[in-house]
Amino acid sequence: MSKNISDVIIIGGGVAGLSTAMQLAKRGSSVTVLEREQIGNGSTGRAAGLLGQLRGTAEHTRMLMDGVEIVKELEAKASVEIYVQTGSVRVAETPERAQEITDLVEMGHSIDFDIDHIAIDELAKRLPYMHTDDLTAACWCPTDGHLQPAELAAAYHKVGRDHGVRYETNCPVTGVLLEGNKALGVQTPKGEFLSPVLVNAAGPWSYLVAGLTDTTLPTAALGHVYLTTQPHS
Ligand SMILES: Cc1cc2nc3c(=O)[nH]c(=O)nc-3n(C[C@H](O)[C@H](O)[C@H](O)COP(=O)(O)OP(=O)(O)OC[C@H]3O[C@@H](n4cnc5c(N)ncnc54)[C@H](O)[C@@H]3O)c2cc1C
Repeated sequence: MSKNISDVIIIGGGVAGLSTAMQLAKRGSSVTVLEREQIGNGSTGRAAGLLGQLRGTAEHTRMLMDGVEIVKELEAKASVEIYVQTGSVRVAETPERAQEITDLVEMGHSIDFDIDHIAIDELAKRLPYMHTDDLTAACWCPTDGHLQPAELAAAYHKVGRDHGVRYETNCPVTGVLLEGNKALGVQTPKGEFLSPVLVNAAGPWSYLVAGLTDTTLPTAALGHVYLTTQPHS
């Protein structure tokens, strides 16, 4: 029997693939992650790492709240510091945006998310470098923060390995083995890997992986720029 057989193959070793692998392995599946380069080398390794939980819907916000708890669990299991809880603000300059903040605070309270309105003069005291004259409303989320994406990926990798996940790096998936519409596995330069379940976690390259089965995934990769500043002194 081939040693390259598992319950699930995950294509892509970014945060999506790594977390899926860890969660499935924790629940008893044998999982192989196939990464074409190195773990966390894709968009995960380039992210700014901001972790804001507030989203437009209660369901989406709850998912992000769970995400913070998962990161804290990972910190404990991998014995690394990943998350820096700084709090975050959201501000409004127009009546429409102020109403949006009111609605979001109400939604947050309905699901026990820690959020509240903050007076503009209080905001100016907390963030003295911020221009606040034209603001009409703001809210404060004390449990938001940021993390080091490389450390997050390393922690998922470590805890996943402890649960038996197999990781193959420098292992691009170049073809998908199919029998009719049923997946049998994938082809790579390191040979065939067999599994009836394939997870496409190739991030911005997902559409290329989908293309290996002549499936169109309507996604596009967009550039993303950010600037890191020094703390205000
Ligand atoms: C500049 C920038 C800043 C960002 N800032 C933030 C932020 O502050 N907060 C936030 O939440 N998000 C942020 N993001 C978004 C975040 O980085 C992504 O949403 C997240 O990393 C996506 O993870 P992923 O696992 O889906 O994709 P990726 O991390 O891109 O992982 C996909 C992996 O698949 C691999 N792969 C591709 N093709 C194949 C193949 N054929 N075979 C095998 N492997 C393959 C790639 O090598 C890659 O490692 C930012 C993104 C960028 C680019």
